[in-house]
Amino acid sequence: MSDIEIAQANEASSMWPITKVAASIGLTADDLELYGKSKAKLSFTALNALKDKPFGKLVLVTSINPTPAGEGKSTITVGLGDALQQRGQHPVIALREPSLGPVMGMKGGATGGGYAQVVPMEDINLHFTGDMHALTTAVDTLAALIDNHLQQGNTLNIDPRRILWKRALDINDRALRHVTIGLGGPTSGVPREDGFDITVASELMAVLCLAENIADLKARIGRIVIGYTYDRKPVTVGDLKVTGAIAMLLRDALKPNLVQTLEHTPAFIHGGPFANIAHGCNSVLATRTALQLGNIAITEAGFGADLGGEKFMDIKTPVLGKTPDAVVIVATVRALKYNGGVALADLQQENLDALAKGFANLKRHIHSMQGYGVPVVVAVNRFTSDTDAEIQWLIDACAKLNVKAVTATVWADGGRGGLAVADAVLDALNQPSHFTPLYDRNSDVKEKIKTIVQKIYGGADVVYEGKANAALRTIAKNGWQDLPICMAKTQYSLTDNPKTLGAPEGFTIHVRDIIPKLGAGFLVVMTGTVLTMPGLPKAPAALNMDVTDDGKISGLF
Ligand code: ADP
Repeated sequence: MSDIEIAQANEASSMWPITKVAASIGLTADDLELYGKSKAKLSFTALNALKDKPFGKLVLVTSINPTPAGEGKSTITVGLGDALQQRGQHPVIALREPSLGPVMGMKGGATGGGYAQVVPMEDINLHFTGDMHALTTAVDTLAALIDNHLQQGNTLNIDPRRILWKRALDINDRALRHVTIGLGGPTSGVPREDGFDITVASELMAVLCLAENIADLKARIGRIVIGYTYDRKPVTVGDLKVTGAIAMLLRDALKPNLVQTLEHTPAFIHGGPFANIAHGCNSVLATRTALQLGNIAITEAGFGADLGGEKFMDIKTPVLGKTPDAVVIVATVRALKYNGGVALADLQQENLDALAKGFANLKRHIHSMQGYGVPVVVAVNRFTSDTDAEIQWLIDACAKLNVKAVTATVWADGGRGGLAVADAVLDALNQPSHFTPLYDRNSDVKEKIKTIVQKIYGGADVVYEGKANAALRTIAKNGWQDLPICMAKTQYSLTDNPKTLGAPEGFTIHVRDIIPKLGAGFLVVMTGTVLTMPGLPKAPAALNMDVTDDGKISGLF
């Protein structure tokens, strides 16, 4: 059965009303704002009431570099939650909201898979509680207000050629990467070059995910630099005097969304920045709430440990006020063999040599996560084609690094298939965790970038090309150098070339621009050819999607 068929079969027969899920973590109907029977947002009153509640333990789920062979990070996160619940713990899951870009493009759904899913999967993958739409509207409202400012006399002296703020859509639409707007004469605006980002890459998404409350949301929005004046001074949303309007559009989007897994484990699904072009973590508010309502919060950061994992540690934890007590790195035999040079079509065949070669990729991620001083567990997401010999080789290879590796069959078996991972995680949670950040955020920008490249990617050097040197001067001139770094890099490789797999060494990362995001509170470092508006593939997932006359959806994987 496909993911959606399993979800549909179980939703109909066994999904709990969301009020019952909420009651299992001590929330009453008054704490919720209901979106139908199976989804709810937490009210600000409920969030305020939790303010001084202590945190449980925090488990971060990350992975090796993704491959077309599939890794299953969300699947493992959900299955681990269900397994911990079966072990008598009180876990709460915190995940990102899917973006329609990848749903229509390559990935289909992003709500876990098989018997380890969050439901209602169709709603979550499509319009959910409207957060993405609110964000898109807020991004584009700000863009319209900027262009109106130019039209109405431009008292702030904004240079139309130096506007940083882009419009957004939550769709992979390559044709909108570069556009010209304002054509049609004096009544139709000031002509200028513009472009669209996918909503999940926009700064407002990061702001929503890092804001602690409405006051902080407003402060962050007010600080966003939308561009520069003709004499190169930064212009902020605060200068435009529209902070309140933009914050107002995001009022409800700021509230975490509560849903459940197929086994009724509570899950907050809130905020969804990509990890390659943004910081890749669900909202601080959702993770914090999960930490307060459960004894163990399990959260996932996007793509590999080089991207989402690193950004979770260095960007999210300082705001969250909590560092992970354990890290789970998800790996698959298939993906490691792919990293070891096996073609997609040949992954079914046992190949211990390729596994050994591709293991270098996992080893690098184990090493970088251990560098933070947090206990690491490897979860091997078992596919039916994996042989016992391959699995054993992988477990032994991890043991040689003093890392516990266990298999998970949550995709086929639900929580029952994750008990070994749950036990390994419970063990890890009893070990000491001495978190050390990767870099001192007060150090020089180039120094911070070099530290990430060398210690996380295994690279040697960084070169600054194109606009990057001018951007470094602007950052220094404006005193923005103390912000953490958000690398924008391909997810497929530790280098900035998506085709270089495994764990290369001695390579150079090419930085072509650095974009200040003062609202989010980080500097986005654009490397290689990574883009903030993806395109659709030759055969998009959309080709398989349909809805019947009575409203039944198919093809969301
Ligand atoms: P990630 O979070 O790493 O992107 P997901 O958990 O979303 O990955 O899984 C991607 C796809 O792979 C889903 O369609 C899921 O059903 C499938 N999948 C995950 N684990 C397995 C498995 N063990 N066997 C078969 N398919 C799997």
